Amino acid sequence: RVRVRYAPSPTGFLHIGNARTAMFNYLFAKHYHGDFVLRIEDTDVERNVEGGEESQLHYLRWLGMEPDESPLKPGNYGPYRQMERLDLYKAVIDELLDRGLAYKCFCTSEELQAEKEAQEAAGIAPMYNRKCAYLTPEEIAEKEAAGLPYVIRLRVPEGKHYTWKDMIRGKINVESKDIGDWVIVKSNGIPTYNFAVVVDDHLMEITHVFRGEEHISNTPKQLMVYEMMGWEAPEYGHMTLIVNEQHKKLSKRDNSIMQYVSQYDEAGYLPEAMFNFMALLGWSPEGTEEIFTKEELIEQFSEKRLSKAPSMFDKHKLAWVNNRYIKKLTLEECAALCIPYLKKAYDCSNISDEWLKQLVALYQEQLSYGQEIVELTEIFFKQSITYNDEAKEVLAWETEAAVLSEFKRQLEMLEEWSVDGLAAAIKQVQVNTGIKGKPLFMGIRVAVTTSLHGPDLKNSILMIGKEETLKRVNQCLN
Ligand code: GLU
Repeated sequence: RVRVRYAPSPTGFLHIGNARTAMFNYLFAKHYHGDFVLRIEDTDVERNVEGGEESQLHYLRWLGMEPDESPLKPGNYGPYRQMERLDLYKAVIDELLDRGLAYKCFCTSEELQAEKEAQEAAGIAPMYNRKCAYLTPEEIAEKEAAGLPYVIRLRVPEGKHYTWKDMIRGKINVESKDIGDWVIVKSNGIPTYNFAVVVDDHLMEITHVFRGEEHISNTPKQLMVYEMMGWEAPEYGHMTLIVNEQHKKLSKRDNSIMQYVSQYDEAGYLPEAMFNFMALLGWSPEGTEEIFTKEELIEQFSEKRLSKAPSMFDKHKLAWVNNRYIKKLTLEECAALCIPYLKKAYDCSNISDEWLKQLVALYQEQLSYGQEIVELTEIFFKQSITYNDEAKEVLAWETEAAVLSEFKRQLEMLEEWSVDGLAAAIKQVQVNTGIKGKPLFMGIRVAVTTSLHGPDLKNSILMIGKEETLKRVNQCLN
């Protein structure tokens, strides 16, 4: 049975890059009718943040990826937090120590630092010099009795090759001579990631691992432990980077892109659209279609179509995908998405929800994300308006004085404030002035909405209201 895991460290919130990692594991698992396991890698205790685990889980769910097993839904392979698995690691550590495959190292960080600097100065790649690799049992006992702190290192075998057929990159080979005796247990007694991950993946019967390319250099270390323990390693696939529009690796400090899934939720992106968009970040479907439901993605997913080239996070594409999903919402759903943003941005105390809903209806077709409704609808809430240069140019057309003064007259006489009433009024302006087409409609649009573009004119005027419309037309005439 296929079993994959997403193994976040609760050192932060769900990042786009991690969410994508989770997603490809999820799609793979579901495609092959396997299990998607969530394991919390919390051994870096100082870096764990309050609420990190919860938030990871919350946003996985938000995106539609419910783990089959997790700390909150334990299966047969628990516990699902590494800090609750220390006994399991200890058994393996003791065995490696007994077999002489691991050893205690008492070197201080000052010693290690000095050695590293000396190696760098000599132009050689820093690697542990094995000073403690051959201590006698008596020497070790003596140091321990003296209470000296120690780490446990793995004794890296000589003359070995660690090779795997990466599901994304093909064959990768690393020689053991390029790997120093690495730490499997820190001086605080807690195992390191590279060690714990092997014990966990083995005991949890993980069959496939998709993870970021930053883990390629960890894989040979992990394979080494599998070999020593006589365990079968899972298959690995290392995904490429996500880059920004400048083709730079996404860094946490990059402000050009919102990097946390929570930020997209807050801005009113739809989870289904995010799922769809992120699935195309490093994976490509066979045809040209780009809009897929989660079920379609599960069905079509193939690890063979995971990209070897970096994937660009294209904000415009995300906006396009999200717009496609917003358009499919019912008006009720779209209003539920947008109205909270309006109420937060504008004083809506004297405005009915029905009016807000009609306003949302005007913009649903063009909306890229929920919060965008705020900037799009500014002119409906403003008490005083101004015209930019482009608008002023239209208002300066020689036809406009006639159009607007006749429009004003028609509005004042208008009895029924409705789309039909407005249509008749505008028609009457055309009849009385002899001006039609663009000078007629653009003039009115700019005067009332300040913009050359926008949704349906009559509906927009209707929503702005008679009094405010007249006020704006007057402002242009003066
Ligand atoms: N906790 C590791 C990380 O967050 C998981 C790496 C792995 O998938 O092996 O990067």
